[in-house]
Amino acid sequence: MNSILPKGVSKERFAAATGAMRKVVGDPWVILDENPLIAGYMDTYSAAPESSTAASAAVCPGSVEEVQEIVRIARQYRIPIWSISTGKNFAYGGPAPRTAGQVVLDLRRMNRVIEVNTDLGYAIVEPGVAYVDFYNYMKRHKLPYWIDCAANGMGGVMGNTLDHGVGYTAYGDHLLMQCGMEVVLSDGSLMRTGMGALPNGAASWPVYKYGYGPYIDGLFTQSNFGVVTKIGLWLMPEPPAFRPFMVQLQNEDDLYEVTEKLRPLKINMIIPNAAITVHLLWEASVYTTKHEWKTGSGPLPQRTLRQIAEKFNLGMWNFYAALYGLPEVVEANWQIVESTFRSIKGAKIYREADRKDDPSFNYRVRLMRGEPNLTEFSLMNWVGGGGHINFSPISPASGADAMKQFHMIRKACEKYGFDYIGEFVIGWREQHHILMLMFNRYDADESRRAHDCFAQLINDAAAEGYGEYRTNLHFMDQIAGTYNANDGALLRMQRRIKHALDPAGILSPGKNGIWPLGESPETNS
Ligand SMILES: Cc1cc2nc3c(=O)[nH]c(=O)nc-3n(C[C@H](O)[C@H](O)[C@H](O)COP(=O)(O)OP(=O)(O)OC[C@H]3O[C@@H](n4cnc5c(N)ncnc54)[C@H](O)[C@@H]3O)c2cc1C
Repeated sequence: MNSILPKGVSKERFAAATGAMRKVVGDPWVILDENPLIAGYMDTYSAAPESSTAASAAVCPGSVEEVQEIVRIARQYRIPIWSISTGKNFAYGGPAPRTAGQVVLDLRRMNRVIEVNTDLGYAIVEPGVAYVDFYNYMKRHKLPYWIDCAANGMGGVMGNTLDHGVGYTAYGDHLLMQCGMEVVLSDGSLMRTGMGALPNGAASWPVYKYGYGPYIDGLFTQSNFGVVTKIGLWLMPEPPAFRPFMVQLQNEDDLYEVTEKLRPLKINMIIPNAAITVHLLWEASVYTTKHEWKTGSGPLPQRTLRQIAEKFNLGMWNFYAALYGLPEVVEANWQIVESTFRSIKGAKIYREADRKDDPSFNYRVRLMRGEPNLTEFSLMNWVGGGGHINFSPISPASGADAMKQFHMIRKACEKYGFDYIGEFVIGWREQHHILMLMFNRYDADESRRAHDCFAQLINDAAAEGYGEYRTNLHFMDQIAGTYNANDGALLRMQRRIKHALDPAGILSPGKNGIWPLGESPETNS
């Protein structure tokens, strides 16, 4: 008998529900906790114990009809099910559910690229399509479009989009480029959004986002209101010219100027892609590990950072972006871009050919042309032990905000004994600041400090008006609690929608702090 059960569910009810699920998907596709495969649903990277988010089972449907049946069974037996697409949400909880005992609804078997329309430049995909599969599909069929992928090339197109993820081409804001969604609701019914709600609307479904009436696709992202089974995505035409470049900045204070200089180039769409300003240690992890520079714990001192920068020919900040389009346009824009960044004192500008043998520049170039790769996982070796959680506050794309966040976050990292390893991903008018908090997961004290550091950062950031765009399972409630203007009106509304759409509270309870009515984080954590 399963050693883990969903909260409040008897072993008899659990056995009846999983038995009914077996009849729908077939025996091998219901994985109970005595099956070693259940280990694949653990969150093995966070700072909290794995047991706190251990699934009681996983169920893997192979079609939309099977998803509908599983949802109906879950509702009948009151079994919480946590939806994942490819389940590679590393840094944010991986495939694990929000609380121990939930059943993972693993949609990886549904992995078809259903359509790529080369006239209109869109694709329709199922949940299990990983970036690397999508990329290979486009190459195999010699399609004249690029995909846009996360730096975690194992990740999936749908899961990343639904969690508001980002990539690095001009189509890097994934939700912005999503158009048309199919959703299984908690009663097992199937709904299409936008033009897809018109019985004969399939042709316009992936090209016009808004349909008629309220625009609702966003309701099914970072939420638990439905199980998404298809999304449409706009694809970037392969550009005739592509010019990636790097600006190496010699001083930490240059973060201010590079951000200020970039903003008009972004707003005017001279630089169209998700540009990034990356701190030294993020890049250095491609070449070296912390242990080569320091024994014992604690952050590296400034003089060591300088030595690392010199040894690997890196800046204290390293800025990457690219130009895309007709060769003449790229050349004209390059003149603007080059003279803008050249005016920063000490800045060195590199083109692709200048750093052919530089693996950190090389993987950025690949990301900026939508080629999945795993080079960024070098970060996991920085301290060893693999622990990592991402702290990711949003701010306006301004130099003052960048500097304020950098100092605030580095101070907290140092207080808890960690290096600052961060980057700014700059969108149209805002920036995502991503701190990769690396720690040795096999060291209990270090894990506890990482957890405490993260918790403090949430409060420090909120006090300055900075909220996170996404987070790890263990901090979902705390962050939801910071979006609390007007007596928590937003969260109260989300909970009311939850109750209306999922009265039994079976879909991903606790996702992003949204609990079914009557349940609270305190009773569930
Ligand atoms: C080294 C490294 C680099 C990374 N680089 C990036 C990056 O560049 N950009 C970025 O955005 N992230 C990045 N990440 C974070 C993360 O690994 C990726 O975003 C990854 O793509 C997310 O995993 P997934 O696509 O498998 O999503 P999943 O794990 O499948 O889904 C994510 C979440 O979305 C919800 N969900 C998924 N499917 C459904 C569904 N069908 N219906 C309803 N809800 C659903 C669930 O809550 C799920 O937990 C990085 C992480 C690491 C460790």
